[in-house]
Amino acid sequence: MQQYDNCPQCFGSGFQTIETASLFGLVKKQHSIQCSYCSGTGRVKKRVKCSICDGQGLYGGTSEVCPTCNGTGYGDGFSLVPRSKLHPGTTFNRVCARCQIKTVHEVKTDIQALRTTVSWEADEADRKVLLTEQVRVACTACGDSYYVKLDPNFHEEGDYQEPALPAPAEAGW
Ligand SMILES: [Zn+2]
Ligand SMILES: [Zn+2]
Ligand SMILES: [Zn+2]
Repeated sequence: MQQYDNCPQCFGSGFQTIETASLFGLVKKQHSIQCSYCSGTGRVKKRVKCSICDGQGLYGGTSEVCPTCNGTGYGDGFSLVPRSKLHPGTTFNRVCARCQIKTVHEVKTDIQALRTTVSWEADEADRKVLLTEQVRVACTACGDSYYVKLDPNFHEEGDYQEPALPAPAEAGW
């Protein structure tokens, strides 16, 4: 049985409100339009388990937090960033381990392909190579930065609202 969550964009209503301006912007009107994220159904597929840590939030029995899902076992704000926006400057919300609160994070690199050889047959052509992708991200509040492996199930294309960057900090480094 398929399970659903309320749509995060329209909070389950199936509608979004947009404002249009006519007569040189003098008359503003609000319209309800069908939510494009859930196609007006108000529902989205149940959260997908993080495939990097298999929904554990931690790497294979260790105490190392999985950066892909930020230890949640499911997608967080990072997983909502469409793949086409995974490039430097794109922002997203995530709980920062150092700040201990949800802060605006920023993508710092383009997608990097990683080839990891996992077996060493004599013939190079027989060796198994694991292909993964990663980007570097950073907390804009404390500067903590690290690499995140991409889960192929996340980063669906769609409308994406970037959180605004906080005002730059006062003088100093
Ligand atoms: Zn919706
Ligand atoms: Zn994970
Ligand atoms: Zn931080």
